[in-house]
Amino acid sequence: MISERTQVGIVGAGPAGLLLSRLLALAGIDSVVVENRSRAYCEARQRAGLLEDRTVRLLRAAGLADRLDREGLEHGGIYLQFAGERHHLDFRDLVGRTVTVYAQTEIVKDLISERTRAGAALHFDISATEVEGIGTDHPVLRYADADGQRHQVRCDVVAGCDGFHGICRPAMPAGLMTVAERAYPYAWLGILADVPPSTDELIYCRHADGFALHSMRSLEISRLYLQVPLDEDITAWPDDRIWAELWRRFEVPAWELKEGPILEKSVTPMRSFVAAPMRSGRLFLAGDAAHIVPPTGAKGLNLALADVAVLADALVALIRDGDGGPAGAYSAACLSRVWRATHFSWWMTSNLHVPPGQDPMDEQLQLAQLRYVVASRAAATTLAENYCGWPG
Ligand SMILES: Cc1cc2nc3c(=O)[nH]c(=O)nc-3n(C[C@H](O)[C@H](O)[C@H](O)COP(=O)(O)OP(=O)(O)OC[C@H]3O[C@@H](n4cnc5c(N)ncnc54)[C@H](O)[C@@H]3O)c2cc1C
Repeated sequence: MISERTQVGIVGAGPAGLLLSRLLALAGIDSVVVENRSRAYCEARQRAGLLEDRTVRLLRAAGLADRLDREGLEHGGIYLQFAGERHHLDFRDLVGRTVTVYAQTEIVKDLISERTRAGAALHFDISATEVEGIGTDHPVLRYADADGQRHQVRCDVVAGCDGFHGICRPAMPAGLMTVAERAYPYAWLGILADVPPSTDELIYCRHADGFALHSMRSLEISRLYLQVPLDEDITAWPDDRIWAELWRRFEVPAWELKEGPILEKSVTPMRSFVAAPMRSGRLFLAGDAAHIVPPTGAKGLNLALADVAVLADALVALIRDGDGGPAGAYSAACLSRVWRATHFSWWMTSNLHVPPGQDPMDEQLQLAQLRYVVASRAAATTLAENYCGWPG
């Protein structure tokens, strides 16, 4: 067993763990990041791609926005399509704000490259991660490195940034956490296609046969989604069927969907999940380790990065200044924003998807709500300020 010492042990090299390590490094706090996947896997894992303006500002302040500022696509609104008609919501006009398309894969690459350049501890392909002693002043992080060598890292704090299936949330004391959860009765079939987007801004479409989303990762790569039944078998969806269904759901007069080679496809179930509190003793949870939203509101990545911005300040106060006040307020500060985003994501999901066996009352209630959003400036503003990120 190799014994080591650090100030903050970080479990998980997703966006949350990597950004936390960067923010701490800028404040002179040492950390060790351990990740059970390979670097190549982390850099290729297709997930989110839409950044709130405060997320962009956070990445700029952390010195991580050179490529984001060059390659990110600033969007001033979205299209909302239902009942065969497409409507534009203009965020610049409604709330004076924008969002930016820049893939999570690129953020992760930028963060890994910065940490590697700085020569700071970042260990991929590790296994058997364990956290112990969170009720003491020196919790211990244990893992086996890629060669199977066991390590024991004595920390001041452990940050659980290990996503929904990680080991840190289960390491919280039994009976401490309250979990609120909702599973949705449908899933998203997502594709990444080597074709320029057929739209300048994202299209959120409610079709009688289910939701569809036209997103993008760059000016060359499109990302598209279809609502499919829960546990849908991906082999039932050859490329031709996917394009035909996308055409059908997005169809409006004088608009064309560009098709291209499908680079990747997957089916993702949808869930809302919030576990509270996000801290026990010297273990702090951040990002998907503590909460999950369905992707319809484009909030998961933004929430994860917002958590670690608060956490970094709290840990600097605790470790450098001996001030435990911000650490004590961490969970409540994050959960207020998390619940706003959880509500918004649920609202977008519930109004745009067609659940199995939807009855005429629910269908008309959805359509009435969508008509109201595009007709009322007040309703459109509510959507815009949540989509761009409510500060709370
Ligand atoms: C398929 C999918 C599609 C998504 N699409 C969108 C979207 O379109 N828009 C959006 O806003 N959000 C989306 N999300 C959510 C968004 O990607 C997440 O909210 C975001 O990745 C959260 O970052 P994180 O760092 O908290 O967690 P993660 O990105 O999950 O990172 C956690 C890391 O911890 C590692 N890890 C886990 N267990 C251990 C362990 N025991 N030891 C060491 N390391 C461990 C994992 O390998 C992973 O690298 C999607 C999520 C998924 C799963």
